Amino acid sequence: MRPTGRLHIGHYFGALENWVRLQNDPDYDCFYFIADWHALTTHYAEDTRLVPQHTIEITTDWLASGLDPEKAVLFVQSQVPEHAELHLLLSMVTPLEWLERVPTYKDQIRQLAEKDLSTYGFLGYPLLQTADIVIYSEGAKGLFVPVGEDQVPHIELGREIVRTFNFHFGFHVDLAVQNEKALEYVGSTIFARYKKPWPGAKRLSLLQLSELKMLSTLYAKEIGYANFLREMGEHAGQFHLIDQLTEPAAMLTKTPRFPGLDGRRMAKSYGNAIWLNETDSEIRKKTKVMVTDPARKRRTDPGNPDVCPVYDWHKLFSPQQTLDWAAQGCRTAGIGCIECKAAMADHLIQWISPVRERRLQYEKHPARVLEIIDEGSKKARRVAQATMRRVREAVFDWQQKRQEIQGLAANSGS
Ligand code: SF4
Repeated sequence: MRPTGRLHIGHYFGALENWVRLQNDPDYDCFYFIADWHALTTHYAEDTRLVPQHTIEITTDWLASGLDPEKAVLFVQSQVPEHAELHLLLSMVTPLEWLERVPTYKDQIRQLAEKDLSTYGFLGYPLLQTADIVIYSEGAKGLFVPVGEDQVPHIELGREIVRTFNFHFGFHVDLAVQNEKALEYVGSTIFARYKKPWPGAKRLSLLQLSELKMLSTLYAKEIGYANFLREMGEHAGQFHLIDQLTEPAAMLTKTPRFPGLDGRRMAKSYGNAIWLNETDSEIRKKTKVMVTDPARKRRTDPGNPDVCPVYDWHKLFSPQQTLDWAAQGCRTAGIGCIECKAAMADHLIQWISPVRERRLQYEKHPARVLEIIDEGSKKARRVAQATMRRVREAVFDWQQKRQEIQGLAANSGS
């Protein structure tokens, strides 16, 4: 979640309710973070010193909503700099067109026309998102991202990028001098491909063997892994991929229809939200003027609850008995909208009271909130660092070079 300020009940039903459910499911280890670097991709020209305060506000709302630091890792993206390092490495294998054709890229540039988004940071944000997810590959059996339909293309892009990365840095050639038959077939095929004379498996020097491994990798990258294995036929077993990063998967989340007070999507900028710490009197005042079925103009007109935002809210906050009363009363003009809204507000207040109470407790102790995200960031960082240790080795294999040099030094007695 980006740190753009306090959260409203739309955020609760759009995401947090599901996050709480997942943290309580023993099948998942949950990582939830405040995406402060992502906020910069569109808000870099604004006062970025507000971000820490917004981060505290959001974390306070998370805790009030039931997220529990004992059950889920709650952290801040910029406190885990390994996200940025992996983003950089992923950028090396990601073709520019993949980012340019992400559907939200052009849409957002149009929607946010008042901002200058012709930056690399904005173009590359789906890549940073991929790094944010797959940096938690270490020890993971699967990586799932709870998202709505609109975010699926981002996850798909992430899968493509990970596949490409794994291929570039996880391709291994097992050919050994003992396996003459495989060596003969693979060597003659690959050397012929690069117009190099093939000395024959029996006369192959160690230097030529390492050249063969290098050329095999090059050839596989040129024609693609699947084609390469096909061409190697019965000797395909001499090659394998080690997945350095886990491909992410979308966990599609169905969110209930939850309009704002004016019937549009609930958003801070529309001024149509109920905040998670809203007072009873504010809730009553705001819901009194909520839009209803536009066709129900007079008290005596029957209405249709299926097109009424008040009824959508009833479905989330009211018990069945009240739902039946509202639907029946609306359709028969047996009740007026004023009493219908008042009943809904009563149940909304009942629902929000414990959330608001928890929020007040955390508001009084911002140091505790800070401690929770600092601790969470340390936990997240331990996992991210383990992934990066492995990934760095896969890219450069410095360990091998160090051992070689240390071995040489030991042999020469220096
Ligand atoms: Fe909406 Fe209730 Fe009025 Fe029907 S009676 S239009 S459900 S507010």
